[in-house]
Amino acid sequence: MSHVFHRSARSVPPLALSAEGSFILGADGRRYLDACGGAAVSCIGHGRDEVAEAIAAQARGLAYAHTGFFTSAPAEELADLLVAGAPAGIDKVYFVLSGSEAVETALKMAHQYHRERGEPARRHVISRWQSYHGNTLGALAAGGNRGRRTAYQDLLVEMHHIPPCYPYRGMAQGESAEEYGRRAADDLERAILDIGPETVSAFIAETVVGATLGAVAPAPGYFSRIREICDRYGVLLILDEVMCGMGRTGHLHACLAEGVAPDVMTLAKGLGAGYLPLGAVLVSGRVHQAFADGSGGFLHGQTFCGHPVACAGALATQTIVRREGLVECVRAEEPFLEGLLRDAFAQHPHVGDIRGRGYFWALELVEDRDSKAPFPAGARLAARVKAEAQQLGLLCYPGSGTVDGQVGDHVLLAPPYTATRGELEQMVSLLGETFDTVF
Ligand code: PLP
Repeated sequence: MSHVFHRSARSVPPLALSAEGSFILGADGRRYLDACGGAAVSCIGHGRDEVAEAIAAQARGLAYAHTGFFTSAPAEELADLLVAGAPAGIDKVYFVLSGSEAVETALKMAHQYHRERGEPARRHVISRWQSYHGNTLGALAAGGNRGRRTAYQDLLVEMHHIPPCYPYRGMAQGESAEEYGRRAADDLERAILDIGPETVSAFIAETVVGATLGAVAPAPGYFSRIREICDRYGVLLILDEVMCGMGRTGHLHACLAEGVAPDVMTLAKGLGAGYLPLGAVLVSGRVHQAFADGSGGFLHGQTFCGHPVACAGALATQTIVRREGLVECVRAEEPFLEGLLRDAFAQHPHVGDIRGRGYFWALELVEDRDSKAPFPAGARLAARVKAEAQQLGLLCYPGSGTVDGQVGDHVLLAPPYTATRGELEQMVSLLGETFDTVF
């Protein structure tokens, strides 16, 4: 009997007791290998004393001071650290507590930015199908996961969706990756022209698509063309790196590998590595200046934004990431992980695509490899893989796009950056056992 309103209204998940490194210990006595870091969160591994101590010290010294009255040392230091590693032009950081809030904040910021500059007609947001930007109403409206949107459709404001850049299914025969990238990016220009360029506020996209498609990196040149198009029409580029950012792809930010700097970027998950919730909106100096030159303030703000204890936890996390060279480690070990996955699954009859970057990989599951036909939605393939894997002591993150019949199920892997080679091998071996049971 549980009084918690769990994700499933019909069952109670196992009780987690403690966690260390790449493993979570359950009250059932099992050690679960955390191959997905929850949802690409636990990037420095579990149970790091240094983070726990930083959190405790901050809670003792200054647990809370409302940002309407004060700033705090951990917020200031963390913002300095984030700006130092950010793409060109980023100069300010707005702290929130989750990825969804970061996206809401970014959308509102873009909206007010244009008003500050005397262009209040710019109110349309363009995003992509098969994306996920969070579950609050604005973020859900921007997102393109039809399955998650359907139940709340009546509550969602209208946003404009273009197709994703999804080479596995989008690339035409005989087309090069570069040609496809250009063609996919041109969907944005068409949408801007259709809607009316002087009315478009922002384009939002995940640099590497996470939860809905499963670790889909952009085709080469896609985002540089997107950047050009945004600049041509005065549209702000918001990159959502809530899942793919903070080192997950082997670069501190996934957009650095694309050579593209956004106007606004959202972060969460790996920022605080799960020790405490924290999200952030990174903002270019140009965008911030419009607020400074205009009304003087952002009409936003929540009770817990810039929470000192959450910032202290994230500061300790990011200090570890830098001191231990974890982003570099992810980049160096990417070929090892990719090799393991390809050796184990490249010939599997139900693995249509193996894709990813850094420690952010997915296997797309299909009924038929040749036709790429997905399993029917009723098969609940990804959910079954997740459940079977957990029975075997492996945590992997399921995703399904079969609701619109265009995308297969996938399994997402996002191990801690600290995972050993042995643990990565164990992860792939347990996933193989899982597939043997499910298929
Ligand atoms: N944006 C992206 C790309 C995400 O993957 C997620 C969560 O998975 C979110 C936003 C929402 O973050 P949160 O669940 O912290 O609200």
